[in-house]
Amino acid sequence: MKWEMVVGLETHVELATKSKIFCSCSTQFGGDPNSHCCPVCTGQPGALPFLNRQAVEYTVMAGLALNCEINRYSKMDRKHYVYPDLPKAFQVSQFDIPLCINGHLELSGGKMININRIQLEEDAGKLIHEGGKILVDYNRAGVPLIEIVTEPDFRSAEEVVEYLEKLQGILRTIGISDCRMQEGSLRCDVNISVREEGSSQLGTRAEIKNLNSFSFVQAAIEYEFDRQTGLLEAGKPVFQETLSFDSVSGKTLNMREKEDADDYRFFPDPDIPAIILSEEDIKRLRECIPELPEARIKRYVSEYRLPEADATLICKYKKVADFFDKASEGLKNPAVAASFILTQMFSKISTEVAREQWASPIPPEFLRDLVLLLEEKKINHNLAKNIFTKMLEEGKAPKSILEAEGISTDEVIDLDELCKSAVYTNPGAVEDYKKGKKKALQALIGNVMRQSRGRADAEEARKILLELLKE
Ligand code: ADP
Ligand code: MG
Ligand code: ZN
Repeated sequence: MKWEMVVGLETHVELATKSKIFCSCSTQFGGDPNSHCCPVCTGQPGALPFLNRQAVEYTVMAGLALNCEINRYSKMDRKHYVYPDLPKAFQVSQFDIPLCINGHLELSGGKMININRIQLEEDAGKLIHEGGKILVDYNRAGVPLIEIVTEPDFRSAEEVVEYLEKLQGILRTIGISDCRMQEGSLRCDVNISVREEGSSQLGTRAEIKNLNSFSFVQAAIEYEFDRQTGLLEAGKPVFQETLSFDSVSGKTLNMREKEDADDYRFFPDPDIPAIILSEEDIKRLRECIPELPEARIKRYVSEYRLPEADATLICKYKKVADFFDKASEGLKNPAVAASFILTQMFSKISTEVAREQWASPIPPEFLRDLVLLLEEKKINHNLAKNIFTKMLEEGKAPKSILEAEGISTDEVIDLDELCKSAVYTNPGAVEDYKKGKKKALQALIGNVMRQSRGRADAEEARKILLELLKE
């Protein structure tokens, strides 16, 4: 029998607001345990919440960027459960009227992943297991969070990972979250079931909680698919359960039986007024959405003639794409600027976090000036590479590096003239070459390079010299 994997995702994303969702405590990651806390976010009796406007606006922006309908009337609800990370014994979330519904995200092959809803909620605290004790840190309690829920539309782990990468790119671009899986600002729950291929009914699902890296997502899905198909092939049922993923063994483990919605006793939070958005609010937020990675990649490929892989890599980091856009102004061939970024700059700025922050040692104008010198044939590619290395080390403009090296770029190199002169002043080498000593050509090229102080294009010089030597 052939089995089909069915996956739906619930992705939690911490919003990049400065303060928490219902109080003015800082949302900064880290900090001493319980130092970003107040009576509101630790759920003290009598403390009253005050909804953070920015958190609502960021949620709406996420919805707009993911093609959702925005509910102009929406509300916050209490979801009850008892667990030490939740000081109030309820989480404020959205139940039946979330801010955004019915969106989608398109994968590269054109497949649509439908987004059922995006809701705004508060994050819980963090439990720390230490020396047989469980400690709790409420710094994260009350950090605004959105939950993005897809339909069960994924059919492979690869589709899931691509979705997550695209989602991360979009949310970072609109600036509502840094989406760092390693810091937990993007985490996802994977709902997975298996059914016979061709069947239109859904199988019983298991939910794997809190996966915090793309490779764990991939590994957990693959392990769970094998586990469930194994059960079904042995004629055993799959139970609906909540699992955790153990990254050391690569296995999923039972955490608890799955709760149903009525177990949570949802009801509207009486302390928080309904959220009412006007058409103008939504229009204004729509205007805050910058060009999204998908559109940007297309523009780079069609207008700038960048290879798609290069365009995709540049658009992975908004600040890199912004840098590239500036560096490309007025260039005939922006692909050259792109290749400098992707080779020399990326090898210097090499981690994901560093690329995302993009503390470039030079402003984009310096890169543009360097590529202009190349386009005007005032320097060759090899020299440009060496100059660029120094630019990145010293943070200087190409002109000042060239000056320091004593290389003038005032005149354009007349390569024909230089080649003729090399031939004219080196009769010995010419004779050797004509006698069949191919190495003599190298000496002539070396002469041209010396005359141009390294600025000439050696490949071009070789071609011209070969022509001259035919005569
Ligand atoms: P809950 O909030 O109780 O976990 P939802 O019905 O909201 O349940 O579904 C949560 C996620 O599980 C959604 O992404 C949905 O697409 C997915 N899902 C629901 N049923 C299945 C199933 N049988 N197989 C795989 N995914 C499923
Ligand atoms: Mg769930
Ligand atoms: Zn607080």
